[in-house]
Amino acid sequence: MAVSFSLSPEQEQLKKVARQFAEAHLRDLAEAVRAEPDPARRAELARPAFRTAVEAGFLKGLIPVPFGGAAGSGVDAAILIEEWASHSPDFVISMAGPLIALVPVYQVGTPEQIRRFVAPFLADTGTPVAAMAYSEPGGSANFDAPTPAEGTRTTAEQDGDHYVINGRKAWASHLPGWDGDGPDIMTVVCRAPGGVSLIVAEREHLAGHIDVEHLYDLPGLRGCLTARIRLRDVRVPRANLLGAEGQGVELTRNAFVGSGASIGTFSVAAMRQAFDVAYRFATTEHRGGAVPIIEHQAVSDVLADAKARIEAARLVAWRGLDAALSGDPHGLEWALHAKIFGSETAVAVINDLIRVVGVSAYDTDFPLMRYLDEALAYPVIEGSNIGVRRRQVQTLFTAAGYDPLAASGMA
Ligand SMILES: Cc1cc2nc3c(=O)[nH]c(=O)nc-3n(C[C@H](O)[C@H](O)[C@H](O)COP(=O)(O)OP(=O)(O)OC[C@H]3O[C@@H](n4cnc5c(N)ncnc54)[C@H](O)[C@@H]3O)c2cc1C
Repeated sequence: MAVSFSLSPEQEQLKKVARQFAEAHLRDLAEAVRAEPDPARRAELARPAFRTAVEAGFLKGLIPVPFGGAAGSGVDAAILIEEWASHSPDFVISMAGPLIALVPVYQVGTPEQIRRFVAPFLADTGTPVAAMAYSEPGGSANFDAPTPAEGTRTTAEQDGDHYVINGRKAWASHLPGWDGDGPDIMTVVCRAPGGVSLIVAEREHLAGHIDVEHLYDLPGLRGCLTARIRLRDVRVPRANLLGAEGQGVELTRNAFVGSGASIGTFSVAAMRQAFDVAYRFATTEHRGGAVPIIEHQAVSDVLADAKARIEAARLVAWRGLDAALSGDPHGLEWALHAKIFGSETAVAVINDLIRVVGVSAYDTDFPLMRYLDEALAYPVIEGSNIGVRRRQVQTLFTAAGYDPLAASGMA
């Protein structure tokens, strides 16, 4: 990204189109999802909007150009995500999040793998879903541990020309697919004879071999369909191995770089909405006093600090997504700052905004707690900040020759 903070005419147009889509298709959806108690039904409510977004070319717009898609820059992605996530982050996570499963395909897929696995997401029709099956019920932060007792427990055993995959997976969006027979493709992090590996299971391999054990009922992001499943004797051709056996740790870490950066933008979206609510409250409510409460210095100070932190988080998120998606050599560091700083800032800022509004905010009908419920997810999803993301920063900091000025270009 050249150092200019003005949106181009094309980005202004993208913002407009994204906002129109969100207002037309996501605003009411978000309300309906909040009112629906059943997690499966909540996910299903989003399907018509999902189809409309696919037909309008938004899904293809998330696939990089060299693989047949129409994705723009990282800042373009941030603009789209912020506009949509302001209304329904769960919708964005459900549609865009599972595309993490394709990142290792882009990185090491053979031309034939790329053609077959990416095709459903380029078709501008239907409601195609992927799943990045990394997390496991017993924990995933140590998925790279050398023995199955500690790390990745899902196994892929060789049987002639096939792998037979067995194990349990958790949390990933769309693990069961729309109907329990699996998503269009599932990139499975598993332990093959040569070590932790990535194998792509297609729907024809998954159907009849997924036991859905549990659907999570999330406090925020309620429209996300996250499940705990068992993969039972899933037979996949050996030709569906991505890269080489044992390459799965590196490929998995790479897969979550861009999505980690995007959490910075999800965080901004939650803060932006919460600020809007608190600012309107502060400028209109007297709470029995003589003046709107923003006239009290203490209230204005909290709002001032919140606004500055939102703007800072937005800039880091733009930088993070731009660096992560453009192949910047410091993309990982920027993505980690966007993820950690954005997510933890969001929780702190929204908590402060709740304090400004006071007790009225502590009511599920008042439109503020919902943003805290969303924001609380961001430090723990896409690799928790403690278990995964800060450890990655530590690895960068302790690498030989690390230069603290390099990522900013000021070395
Ligand atoms: C809406 C939603 C969507 C999701 N989508 C996906 C998806 O598409 N694919 C997917 O695979 N997962 C997905 N997840 C799961 C998510 O990415 C988690 O971040 C991931 O499972 C890792 O969780 P964790 O870091 O808490 O790991 P855990 O292994 O459960 O660790 C738990 C905690 O233990 C501590 N800990 C463990 N090991 C260490 C260590 N070595 N050093 C320091 N502390 C440690 C940390 O405090 C950590 O937070 C999703 C979750 C949600 C809610």
